[in-house]
Amino acid sequence: YHAKELRLGYQLFDQTLNSKSALWVSLRGQLNNALQQNQFVLFYQPKVSLPQGTIVGVEALVRWEHPEKGLLAPGVFIDIIEQSTVIHEFTRYVLKQAIIQCRLWLNQGVRISVAVNLSPYNLRDDEFIPYLKEQLSCHQVPAELIEIELTESGTMLDLNVAQRVFPELRAVGVKLSIDDFGTGMSSLAYVKKLDVNFIKIDRSFITNITTDYRDVAVIKSMLLLCVNLNKEVIAEGIETSEQAEILHELGCKFAQGYYFGKPMHPLVITPLLTKDLPVSAKVTPIKEGYS
Ligand code: C2E
Ligand code: MG
Ligand code: MG
Ligand code: MG
Repeated sequence: YHAKELRLGYQLFDQTLNSKSALWVSLRGQLNNALQQNQFVLFYQPKVSLPQGTIVGVEALVRWEHPEKGLLAPGVFIDIIEQSTVIHEFTRYVLKQAIIQCRLWLNQGVRISVAVNLSPYNLRDDEFIPYLKEQLSCHQVPAELIEIELTESGTMLDLNVAQRVFPELRAVGVKLSIDDFGTGMSSLAYVKKLDVNFIKIDRSFITNITTDYRDVAVIKSMLLLCVNLNKEVIAEGIETSEQAEILHELGCKFAQGYYFGKPMHPLVITPLLTKDLPVSAKVTPIKEGYS
């Protein structure tokens, strides 16, 4: 895997595309081929417990190792995939890779949860849950180690479907998270209708938390709501020790962000996970470099 390792240092190409652009059209035409050729690679970002920074799980974040354009961030191509029927096969591919990675870590004595992002369209795929069950059993991965993230806006887009499918997913034993919480224009009280384990507070509420008392007020009420609804909270996008400290003081138990670690290639994150067995390795904040 030397060629792959060299690619780790590549600058991520991360910019949203105008849907009429030539690049958009060209990438759309290459989707099927990219899937067949395994050009989609999962990077993993640590989820940690506060205040120690112990890794409790990871989130799988897809990148496209494009043969000509280098490493593409999901912002460049996820919309294209979501607007195509390839989304179902794509998500199954991501799920399978994440389950296989979870199994590889289990084999090394590392027991952590692995989260996968779903597109709202995936909830309408009747083959998704059977596929999930098949992959869990095929790779002997406990369902409780797999977490499924759905954005708040995606969930609200089709609340009826979410209310039907979430309990089915919970029955399989996987964990559920509402991603980017707070950005979906839905009432806070909507979460009571959703049978989920985790709420992920969107990064936009964290950015100014050390300077803007209004963001502190919003976070406080989200935390209170989640405690009362018996849901765990993860704060997204922590970039500084000051942000981590405030969140801990406010009672937030879990966090994710560049301060604790960027999304990393499996070859980069695995040594961090296996360093102290059992998993209690302190994450040293990763400043620059691999992403
Ligand atoms: P998300 O699920 O909310 O993932 C978090 C995004 O925030 C990731 O961007 C991550 O790299 C970035 N991030 C994490 N910590 C920090 C931080 O401290 N500061 C800043 N500025 N950013 C941080 P990424 O990897 O570019 O992914 C963007 C979005 O693409 C994801 O947002 C998710 O909605 C979507 N996505 C990624 N992988 C998949 C996938 O396999 N399937 C689907 N359907 N969507 C995916
Ligand atoms: Mg996510
Ligand atoms: Mg998010
Ligand atoms: Mg997002």
